[in-house]
Amino acid sequence: MSHAAAQAEPSAPITVPVPLGERAYDILVGRGLIGTAGARIAALGARAAAIVTDAHVGPLYADALAASLEAQGLRISVTVLPPGEATKSYAGLERVCDAVLEARIERGDLVVALGGGVIGDLAGFAAAVVRRGVRFVQVPTTLLSQVDSSVGGKTGINSRHGKNLVGAFHQPSLVLADTALLDTLPIREMRAGYAEVVKYGLIDDPGFFAWCEAHWREVFAGGPERDRAVAQSCRAKAAVVVRDEHENGDRALLNLGHTFGHALERITAYDSARLVHGEGVAIGLCLAFRFSASLGLCPRADAERVEAHLKAAGLPTRLGDVPGGCGTVDALLDAMAQDKKVKGGALTFILARGIGQSFIAPGIEAESVRAFLRDETN
Ligand code: NAD
Ligand code: MG
Repeated sequence: MSHAAAQAEPSAPITVPVPLGERAYDILVGRGLIGTAGARIAALGARAAAIVTDAHVGPLYADALAASLEAQGLRISVTVLPPGEATKSYAGLERVCDAVLEARIERGDLVVALGGGVIGDLAGFAAAVVRRGVRFVQVPTTLLSQVDSSVGGKTGINSRHGKNLVGAFHQPSLVLADTALLDTLPIREMRAGYAEVVKYGLIDDPGFFAWCEAHWREVFAGGPERDRAVAQSCRAKAAVVVRDEHENGDRALLNLGHTFGHALERITAYDSARLVHGEGVAIGLCLAFRFSASLGLCPRADAERVEAHLKAAGLPTRLGDVPGGCGTVDALLDAMAQDKKVKGGALTFILARGIGQSFIAPGIEAESVRAFLRDETN
């Protein structure tokens, strides 16, 4: 079979069920899924769909998605927003809500988010509030959104008080993760999403981490290993979400690497030229393992293995890797204390006893973090 023929005939997608009772849905993972979106969305009973996308993704994929929907007789509209985090705002929400209302989307119809996490979070939140809730479908187009933000039902926008502070839980009706769409993703965004993939292995699946060490090149290149990595990540996140849909307990494990990572994002003023979220997470994962090792909880060799893998994949692993520097230890601690996961002065960390053995550690004293960070910045 020629390469072109292989592309024209997508193999059967991998299905990852998210069993949330009345809100249960499927995540489908595979190359070429966008061409099947019309039939799958029509099967949900919708007669109209409001596509929301950004100005990078729209020109690449909106026509293919629209054609697939129109072929099923769905009435469609397309709203194209500026790319970037600034779009996840009150102004962005107003635009999407008005566009959805103008498209006469009713309760039985759908909003379709075609884009990365910014579009997914924004369009999902608009779907949660327009007419007190209409259904939505995620067509995530970044690795990060395929393995993380499109799974779990958290939607929202940023406020001047901080990121993601205004939002709602609103589960999608379907997620179509077309892994071929990642072929056009800038390498830096690909790597950033990959940090979250590795995170799932580090949380509780040492076998998956070892698989990543062996297959990461194929994941980047776009072979069947990419589908496998995306599907395994969705399974891992879905399992946590099903145990703890509204983040009262276990879901915090998904924040492995994020306490440090968020602090670094804050210190670099969310300037994506300096640091994108996944890069902060990569450094944060390494710090979480080195911190665990320094507390005597985790073998040093495991911390070294984590760093070696992320570095091989082209990700930053040290505070010194942050372009323009990461500020003083005190500034880092302050930035960490602002994290919403801080309770009563003590910090809650996700630490590890080894690769795939992470646990929630509340009540970590600021002093021990300070001593560790002092070593890290020397
Ligand atoms: P993003 O949506 O900004 O996309 C990154 C960049 O890639 C953008 O410039 C975008 O236009 C471009 N792009 C997207 N798909 C492309 C493609 N296929 N080809 C070429 N370019 C493409 O960023 P992201 O990393 O996907 O998502 C980050 C957002 O996700 C943040 O706002 C974060 O808060 C949110 N998030 C939400 C959750 C959740 O549970 N809801 C979880 C993690 C992150
Ligand atoms: Mg993250």
